[in-house]
Amino acid sequence: MNLDKLIRNNIKTMQPYSSARDEFKDFEQKMIFLDANESPFENGVNRYPDPQQKSVKRLLADQKGVHANQILLGNGSDEVLDLLFRVFCEPNRDNVITLPPTYGMYGVLANLNAVENREVLLSADDFQPQTEVILKTIDTNTKMIFLCSPNNPTGNSFSKESIVTLIQYFNGLVVLDEAYIDFSENESWLAKLKEYPNLVITQTFSKAYGLAGIRMGILYASAEIISVLNKIKPPYNLNNLSQQKALEVLTENKTTDDRITLIKAEKKVLLKQLLEVKFIQKTYPSEANYILIKVDDAHKRYNQLLEKGIVVRNRSNQPLCKNCLRISIGTPEENQLLINALKTL
Ligand code: PMP
Repeated sequence: MNLDKLIRNNIKTMQPYSSARDEFKDFEQKMIFLDANESPFENGVNRYPDPQQKSVKRLLADQKGVHANQILLGNGSDEVLDLLFRVFCEPNRDNVITLPPTYGMYGVLANLNAVENREVLLSADDFQPQTEVILKTIDTNTKMIFLCSPNNPTGNSFSKESIVTLIQYFNGLVVLDEAYIDFSENESWLAKLKEYPNLVITQTFSKAYGLAGIRMGILYASAEIISVLNKIKPPYNLNNLSQQKALEVLTENKTTDDRITLIKAEKKVLLKQLLEVKFIQKTYPSEANYILIKVDDAHKRYNQLLEKGIVVRNRSNQPLCKNCLRISIGTPEENQLLINALKTL
């Protein structure tokens, strides 16, 4: 992969915004900051946040076995994914490949950035990438392939072979979305970043860490890729309160681990109980914190649940997902209420 060739020309030549405090970030002595037109009155958040989010990155780097300069943090994964489009895809010329049924934002971001979205369906029998078809779909303007593993909404992980094949035969970036990796029995691909310079991995604080409300997404890649993304990210994209909350949760890993264990145990129970419901025709195996089920009539069952005060996701409009509902694993009490409600429909 030639990184320089992948980057949009205007990004190569542009000057990044230099935030007021960048130049002084390594000073140890207590400074008087009269440089950023902030309010001088202390209230905990009167100062701009650290634009490089160094404390959060330091902890993540330690815990995930990567270097801090291989991490980009964004306002949710959605922001880091958007930055990828803006660095690597020339509007009205380039294309990306996505594999429906999958997370909808890849396609939305492609549209938003005037980038063609070439869709290659997952295989109908096991929701795996059709690597041969994908490789035939690539042309000289294909910049990224989006793989979501475990995949939303199907819940399965992609085979190691298909991921390796795509990384090895594609000259652009393979973006592996690991939003749900903490619920999976399969390992993260983070350890492979050294081996594959065209691999980009995204994770998030929104799922296993329980922090969807702080909007913090993580992108791991080579230091070279991260440095280009840093050039265009909004200077203060993560606020102080979010950074503090992320730090708190990263120092309390036992709670996160216990919750993951509970969600996985609940999922096991739910998978069994769901099959006892007469109109549920199929439950799909799940490596995530949700279960995809096939029912007799998704629209009808969705509305019936809604009347009982339970909101699930109707995924029927996605290819290969006719009459499918996606159900997040809740607390044990919520899951029991769901099962009780389903049994009365
Ligand atoms: N990736 C996948 C596969 C998702 O399902 C979601 C959210 N549902 C996201 C990314 C978005 O994550 P964030 O909250 O970090 O924007």
